[in-house]
Amino acid sequence: MEPKESASDSGPPEEGHHGKGHQNALERALHAARALILADLEASDVARADIVSLVEAAVTHRRWWVGEWPEGVAFVDGLVAQDVQDALLERYGRWPVCPVCVGADFHALDVEPELGEEPHWVCGKTSTVVARVGYLGEKL
Ligand SMILES: [Zn+2]
Repeated sequence: MEPKESASDSGPPEEGHHGKGHQNALERALHAARALILADLEASDVARADIVSLVEAAVTHRRWWVGEWPEGVAFVDGLVAQDVQDALLERYGRWPVCPVCVGADFHALDVEPELGEEPHWVCGKTSTVVARVGYLGEKL
């Protein structure tokens, strides 16, 4: 697996650039991951201030983590999503709730692949791919 740049993604507005080359790629990836998970949180109407701070904490942690393992930069979308999901479980409850199993068993979607590119929210009970991480709003 090789990290790929989402150059085609005009994406969210970028803040200042610090450093260059590798560092820029890392900050772009983290910024994109942050925007994706925030979009999903907003779609679920849980983007409150205290929850946004959980996202910031996850991004900070992954910045350190990619510093230790640069190849991991390709996986930050899915990892930040899982970090936030775990943090929410403690403070808020299961998120995001599966829209496929409405009225049946109440459960949260899983991120698949757990460590890979192009992570998606998946219903583990019915093996249904619900949405790309960051695009949950189209499905809820
Ligand atoms: Zn489900």
